[in-house]
Amino acid sequence: KAPVITVDGPGGSGKGTITQMLARKLGWHLLDSGALYRLTALAAERQGVSLDDEPALVELAANLDVAFEPTPPGEPAKVLMGGTDVTADIRTETCGDNASKVAVMQPVRDALLQRQRDFRKPPGLVADGRDMGTVVFPEAPVKIFLTASAEERAQRRYSQLKDAGVDVNIDALVEEIRVRDERDMNRAAAPLKPADDAQVIDSTGLSIEEVLVRVMAAAGQ
Ligand code: C5P
Repeated sequence: KAPVITVDGPGGSGKGTITQMLARKLGWHLLDSGALYRLTALAAERQGVSLDDEPALVELAANLDVAFEPTPPGEPAKVLMGGTDVTADIRTETCGDNASKVAVMQPVRDALLQRQRDFRKPPGLVADGRDMGTVVFPEAPVKIFLTASAEERAQRRYSQLKDAGVDVNIDALVEEIRVRDERDMNRAAAPLKPADDAQVIDSTGLSIEEVLVRVMAAAGQ
């Protein structure tokens, strides 16, 4: 079986950027599992499916018509749903929040499980998410749990949004992040927590390059 490195942690911990850099360095595939939950939420919105209609959400998750198009190194993968580019649409705060609402449903998680495992192909996989090391790839030899303080994560998200031209209130953002973390950590289905054998890296106060050095070292690279 192809090797896999799992990187779990809360939103804004730097996981997205770090896993992209790591996958590029190693020349491995990348699984952005959060995108699958975001796509399920987006499909629900587009098809008028309510976020408490669990059977309909499971149906959507099981039948997602999604493609991750490779882009030049350093750029996030282009995400297509039903052939349409939804890369920007799934990155909104609303979509992230809705994703975390559908992610509490165990049957939705089950519907996405095999699709995630199918990303594991030679030469290897870097898997980014919340339950990569605990549920999806429990046998992964290298597991990393990336964290950062809520304030720092809000600050990073704020800078990202500002760069994208979105005007947001930092206090509102801190509150949103806190609510989403709480939902992710306190749910019964695959709660966000480090796997017993995960190496925890706190990225608070570190630059992306400094985090990458620590992650590479933890991965034995
Ligand atoms: O990482 P991202 O912000 O894209 O994830 C969006 C939401 O999807 C998270 O807040 C979480 O609730 C859910 N998620 C999950 N399991 C994963 C990845 C994401 O429950 N492996």
